[in-house]
Amino acid sequence: MAKRLETPVLLVNQPGEKQQGKFIWKQFTTGERLHMAGVWFIVIFGLANCVYLIPILHLPFIAYPRTSIGGFFVLALLVAWRQYRRNVVADGVGGRCPSCKKDMVVDLDGDDRVPLRKYCPLCGKPLDIIESS
Ligand SMILES: [Zn+2]
Repeated sequence: MAKRLETPVLLVNQPGEKQQGKFIWKQFTTGERLHMAGVWFIVIFGLANCVYLIPILHLPFIAYPRTSIGGFFVLALLVAWRQYRRNVVADGVGGRCPSCKKDMVVDLDGDDRVPLRKYCPLCGKPLDIIESS
């Protein structure tokens, strides 16, 4: 089960009003990372083998159809390795919006890091998320 971590951040709106917030992280165990890496490897390499069976789809590789399979094998390995190395991903930012003064949570992409700009899901105003000093 992924562990939830929180670090303090500041939420700043356009006029410069500040509110305390928290940056929420998800930390994966080694088993979970191995599982995700395996799934990605199977999906990418499996797709490559499906494509291999449909001749029209490897027209760009018509002279060397096996090269595309090798390429997909390397791609699958790289994606699986990258997935395995992602032990901590950004999950969201929570806190009170400095503009509308309501509690909200902003969803983040896994690779998001502070400082970043997002928009309040309740009032739509821009929100700068900066490190809390
Ligand atoms: Zn708001």
